[in-house]
Amino acid sequence: MDLSLTETQKAVQDTAREFATRVIAPVAREIDEKERFPREILKGLAELGLMAVNVPEELGGAGAGVVSYALAMQEIARACASTAVTMAVTNMVGEVIAAFGSDEQKARCCAKLASGEWIAGAFALSESEAGSDPGGMRTVATKDGTDWVLDGAKQWITSGAHAGVMVVWARTADRATHPGTRGISCFLVEGGTPGLKVGRAEDKMGIRGSNTVPLTFDGCRIPESALLGQLHGGFKIAMMALDGGRIGISAQAIGIARAALEESVRYALERKQFGKAIAEFQAIQWKLADMRTQLDASHLLCMRAAWLKENKREFSREASMSKVYATEAANRIANMAVQIHGGYGYIREFAAERHLRDARVTMIYEGTSEVQRVVVARSLLT
Ligand SMILES: Cc1cc2nc3c(=O)[nH]c(=O)nc-3n(C[C@H](O)[C@H](O)[C@H](O)COP(=O)(O)OP(=O)(O)OC[C@H]3O[C@@H](n4cnc5c(N)ncnc54)[C@H](O)[C@@H]3O)c2cc1C
Repeated sequence: MDLSLTETQKAVQDTAREFATRVIAPVAREIDEKERFPREILKGLAELGLMAVNVPEELGGAGAGVVSYALAMQEIARACASTAVTMAVTNMVGEVIAAFGSDEQKARCCAKLASGEWIAGAFALSESEAGSDPGGMRTVATKDGTDWVLDGAKQWITSGAHAGVMVVWARTADRATHPGTRGISCFLVEGGTPGLKVGRAEDKMGIRGSNTVPLTFDGCRIPESALLGQLHGGFKIAMMALDGGRIGISAQAIGIARAALEESVRYALERKQFGKAIAEFQAIQWKLADMRTQLDASHLLCMRAAWLKENKREFSREASMSKVYATEAANRIANMAVQIHGGYGYIREFAAERHLRDARVTMIYEGTSEVQRVVVARSLLT
């Protein structure tokens, strides 16, 4: 595996880094404090091609590939994890539509997501009683004439209040005839469709500038053409999308961890106790060394998973390994960053506490750490 970056990958990384440093980082604290959905920043990301990095150019995307996407995600998350998760879900939605959509769906949705005309996309799989086990979903889609009618509720939907389009999963066949996950289909629902109600935004520990809402579908009528992929074949689409999404969340965690490490190095060199910089104490040096080592390991796992996906190889296990390691490492790293900052790590004035709060969710969404281990173990045992 060649770890050197192509011209395109380098250009995407540089573009994302420049925008993140100049535009996003200065307002990241304010986005977190005010729980502000960063609309103008998302628009800026779209203008740079970062809302559809791995969507083919002919559909309006950047067509820059999975490695480029993972690199860009790291840069954005380093500045603001809230912005990064919104970008991650929108990229995932664009990729799902590009991969499984009809020509009409691709033409209608991909360019709007890529250009920022639709400020975000949403991925509506989880329900209040069906998180790690989405096959247990209760939302149903029933045929009425040529339309589909959606009834049910989704939980924890990122950007649900702002999304131009959402990918929604629902049961289309009875469990008796289609047991397990076989009777689940996937639909495209545009924001503002009658019968779709957006609930109150969750008050979260971290990524507070991202929007997380419950959605209710109450007789929500959508045309036959809203079906994405095969009838009853939706679960496979969800699993494939999540495999790819896990690379994005690994990259998000790496970005957060990088910011935590960089701030720790800076602080350790500046802060003096016992008449010298705390960086001179071996206890601090070892923390920094551990942080850097775990960060690099995370990055290598992430790059391997991205490279495999980009080169159309099997990548599901590697994506899960990358996610479980990178997200747990990010939590350790962010925690060590708070420790290195001492009391100042515990207050809002320094970014260390935000990084720790932001890192926490990466071990939960797009499949918990436990679920990633289930995926890895299953691949070893079957
Ligand atoms: C901020 C945020 C944003 C989110 N955004 C989205 C989104 O955009 N779209 C979407 O569809 N969902 C989204 N989610 C939902 C997220 O994917 C779920 O929260 C996650 O999959 C876990 O489901 P759960 O919360 O129901 O926990 P549960 O599934 O109830 O799990 C509870 C605990 O049990 C463990 N557990 C469950 N099953 C097993 C098992 N088989 N083996 C071992 N341990 C197990 C879990 O790991 C966890 O520790 C979001 C969640 C959050 C917090």
